[in-house]
Amino acid sequence: MTLPMSRMQCAQRDQQDALAEFRSEFSLPEGLIYLDGNSLGALPKATPDRLQTVIQQQWGSQLIRSWNDAGWVDMPQRVGEIIGQIIGAEPASTLAADSTSINLYKVLAAALALRPERAVVLTEADNFPTDLYIAQGLTQQAPTQREVRAVTAEQIYGQLHDDVAVLMLSHVNYRNGYRHDLAALTKAAHAVGALVIWDLAHSAGVMPINLAAAQADFAVGCGYKYLNGGPGALAFLYVAPRHQSLCRPVLSGWFGHAQPFAFGAEYEPAAGIARFLVGTPPVLSMAALEVGAELVQRADLTAVRAKSEALTECFTALVQAQLGPHDLPLISPKLASERGSQVCFSHPQAWPIMQALIARGVIGDVRAPDILRFGFAPLYLRFTDVFDAAAHLCSVIQSREWDQPIFHAPARVT
Ligand SMILES: *Cc1c(COP(=O)(O)O)cnc(C)c1O
Repeated sequence: MTLPMSRMQCAQRDQQDALAEFRSEFSLPEGLIYLDGNSLGALPKATPDRLQTVIQQQWGSQLIRSWNDAGWVDMPQRVGEIIGQIIGAEPASTLAADSTSINLYKVLAAALALRPERAVVLTEADNFPTDLYIAQGLTQQAPTQREVRAVTAEQIYGQLHDDVAVLMLSHVNYRNGYRHDLAALTKAAHAVGALVIWDLAHSAGVMPINLAAAQADFAVGCGYKYLNGGPGALAFLYVAPRHQSLCRPVLSGWFGHAQPFAFGAEYEPAAGIARFLVGTPPVLSMAALEVGAELVQRADLTAVRAKSEALTECFTALVQAQLGPHDLPLISPKLASERGSQVCFSHPQAWPIMQALIARGVIGDVRAPDILRFGFAPLYLRFTDVFDAAAHLCSVIQSREWDQPIFHAPARVT
C-alpha cells in the first residue's frame, strides 16, 4: 500500500482500517491527539465499570470472600495467561505481578544463579536506566565477582563470549525506537551458553512476539504502556518452562510458597511459575490490567504491527517533507521494520517544542536532553491524527511558537 500523504488519503486509509473499531473502546478526550501510548496507554472504556464492580460488589459487599469467590487469588496467573498469549509464551509461564523493575530483579537473580561460573551481565549502555540500575545493584550484592558490561547495540554480537552469564536487553529501545532481532540474539546468546532476558516494555501488545519459538529464557515488561493497564499498572514476567523448577526465587515471599495458607515456617517454592510471586496481589490494579490486556488480546497483532509500521512511516515522511534533516534529524531507524512503534527526532529545543505541541493538543514526550519522542498505539490512532500531528509539529518549529517563557518551564515528570 502506498503511503497516505494528504489528509484526504489519510481519511481514506482510516476508512479501510480493519482495526478502526478498536478506537471506540477507548475513552479519549475530544480533539486530543495522543502520541504517548508507549508511555501510558489510554483508558479502555470498560475499565471504570470493571473497577466499580470490583470495588462495590466484590470488595464492598463480598469482602474477604472475594479472594475465593471472585477469583482474586488467581489473578496473577489469570492475567498472566492473557499477557502470555500476547507475547507468544507457553501456557503457565507468565505472571502479572509487581513492577517491571522488581520483576527484572527477580529474573536476573534467577538467571545468574543458573550460570554461577560466569561473571558478566551483558547489556546495552543505552538500555532503560532502571534495567541498568537493577543489574548494578544485583551484581554488587553477588557473593561472587560479577560485572555489568554495557556496550553499544552494534557491539553486542562481538561481546558474546563464554564469560557472559546473561544477555539482558530491551526489545525496543525507549529513546530511539530501535528494535532488536529477538530470535537472532537469543540464538547467538545460547550459542555461547548465555541466558537471555528480554524487556518487552516497548513491544508487548504492539507487535507479534513469540518467546516460545525464539526459546527465550526470561522476559519482563510493563502493564501501563501498550497493554493499557493504567498508571503504575502491574508488570509481567515470563520464565521458560524448562527453567522454572530450577529457579530458587530470590524474593521468596509467601505467595510463591507451595502452600501459602499452611503458614509453615520454612520456605518451599511453589511448583512452576507461581514461585515467582512474592506477596498479596493488588486486586484493583490487577482488574484494570486485565481489561487492558483482554482488549489487546482480541486484536490481530500482525495487523497491529502492519498498521504501526504504516503510522510511523507516514508520520516520518510527512515531517520530513516539510522539515529538512538539519532542522529536525530523525534518530530512529529509517526503516519502519527496524523500529518499534515510535519515531524520535532530536532538537536542542526539544522541551519547549513539546510543551508548545501539547498546548495545541498533540501529546508526545521528551527524553533528555534533546529527544522528541512520539509513540503510535495502532488500536486507537488514526492516519488523520498522524497527518494533523505532523502538521502541528512542523508549524510549531517553523513559526518558533515554542520560544515563549511558558513553554520553557520544567516539570518533574517528562
Ligand atoms: C517503561 C520501562 C520500564 C519501567 O519500569 P517500572 O518498574 O515500571 O518503572 C522499565 N524498562 C523499560 C525498558 C521501560 O521502557
